[in-house]
Amino acid sequence: MTPGELPVAVSELRAALGPTGVLAPGDPAAGFVRDERGLLPARPAAVLRPRSTAEVAAAITICARHRVPVVPFAGGTGLVGGAIPLGEESQLVLSVRGLDRIRNVDPADFALTAESGCVLADVQRAAEDVGLLFPLRLASEGSARLGGAIGTNAGGSNVLRYGMLRDLVLGLEAVLPDGRIWHGLRSLRKDNSGYDLKQLLIGSEGTLGVVTAATVRLVPRPRHQAVALLALPQSTVLTALFALARECFEDRLTALELIGRTGMDLLITQLPDMKDPFARPHPWYLLVEATTTRDGAGLAAQLESFLAEAIRLELAADAVPALDRPQARALWGLREALPEAEKRAGGAVKHDVSVPLGAIAAFIADVERELAAAFPGVRVNAFGHVGDGNVHVNVLTGFERAHTVSALVFRVVAGYGGSISAEHGIGVLKRDSLTVTREPLELELLRTVKTALDPLGIMNPGKLLAVSASSAE
Ligand SMILES: Cc1cc2nc3c(=O)[nH]c(=O)nc-3n(C[C@H](O)[C@H](O)[C@H](O)COP(=O)(O)OP(=O)(O)OC[C@H]3O[C@@H](n4cnc5c(N)ncnc54)[C@H](O)[C@@H]3O)c2cc1C
Repeated sequence: MTPGELPVAVSELRAALGPTGVLAPGDPAAGFVRDERGLLPARPAAVLRPRSTAEVAAAITICARHRVPVVPFAGGTGLVGGAIPLGEESQLVLSVRGLDRIRNVDPADFALTAESGCVLADVQRAAEDVGLLFPLRLASEGSARLGGAIGTNAGGSNVLRYGMLRDLVLGLEAVLPDGRIWHGLRSLRKDNSGYDLKQLLIGSEGTLGVVTAATVRLVPRPRHQAVALLALPQSTVLTALFALARECFEDRLTALELIGRTGMDLLITQLPDMKDPFARPHPWYLLVEATTTRDGAGLAAQLESFLAEAIRLELAADAVPALDRPQARALWGLREALPEAEKRAGGAVKHDVSVPLGAIAAFIADVERELAAAFPGVRVNAFGHVGDGNVHVNVLTGFERAHTVSALVFRVVAGYGGSISAEHGIGVLKRDSLTVTREPLELELLRTVKTALDPLGIMNPGKLLAVSASSAE
């Protein structure tokens, strides 16, 4: 972009999107563009508010003509700075919040088509209205939007049974970096006709185009739920407990969530409403959930036999089964309140890493030991979706130590063949650590894809991959 081109582009965008379609920097209505974690300043050159796919296409066409960088923005709940413009007022933010229509719900096809600005909770409600379930479940579902969730390939606490968004998206509609619209809203379960373009866009963090709508998979809505919190004698029992849970519940198993001693202490001390459900403290806890559509009595019997077997094999020291929905909600409440408890305790350097399932316990022990040796006295809150090999290794220390703390955590992750991001993505905060777990050839191929789809380098530059010398200025 040459100097002077940005104002020309902004005035063309005003003509294309109308006076309320472009917000100037500092406009109070643009206040929603902020970093969820408060770590990065957000200074967009302007905020674009298209209301349709055609308007997104018109806006991107203008940005491409003037080589103006654009940052797609949806709910703004991303935790790695992916939706935050970099630099001083030189990048535009394109909010998809105006694209908020549920276009179609087709119970016969177990499919729903929604625009990318729909809040996830609204997509869930639209599925429920026809007696089905959209199974993406996140603590941020009341504010995160479909486009952002697709941009980050979001997961959550139902991944064990239903998979991540890569498994739930059947088709996409997107505006490509040159402004053309790709009409890929198919609902086919089987399509073996070449490269899968939608999978390139899912998890691409706004670097390959703007998703404007998606067709997602729905499933039968479970009507019965079995939930229990197990107190574990030590973390080494996790692998055997996973195997037992899979054997007892088979494909009804929906969640295996870990809470540690540090986490339980944070909950009790920081949140007055939270109570430890056990009479004495334990080093680790595992939340187990299984669901079914019809056989409630059978599911309750499965839970009973799972808990009895876990205690007989000394994989659990104690267990609290939920006897009704409010009790199940209260147990889930412990798990879901962990980020808030952590925040009230002063925050943490956060990691959402993954390792192979069988290595979870050894990884947690290693990373805790290495952190204790390098940062004596530091508290580590390890928790999360361990049934998917995903652990949040959150280190309760000031952000000034983030670089050294994260370097240590990622080095241990790499030693286990793991990933530095299981679900939040790379954004800008983890971009320079990508080389720890992805080899040079992989990074070269990612760059090749980026350059092929976005030769001008205008889509969310500096996110996921560092801006290359050949990108447009
Ligand atoms: C309390 C809390 C709990 C969370 N729990 C989970 C969890 O369990 N699992 C999980 O995976 N994540 C979790 N997250 C992270 C976050 O909520 C998810 O990544 C969410 O899906 C982001 O959606 P969003 O609409 O807020 O996206 P944004 O933050 O707006 O954007 C995220 C990324 O997607 C890009 N993007 C936005 N819209 C589009 C579009 N239309 N097309 C292309 N790219 C786009 C942005 O440029 C950015 O790179 C959590 C966050 C919070 C605050």
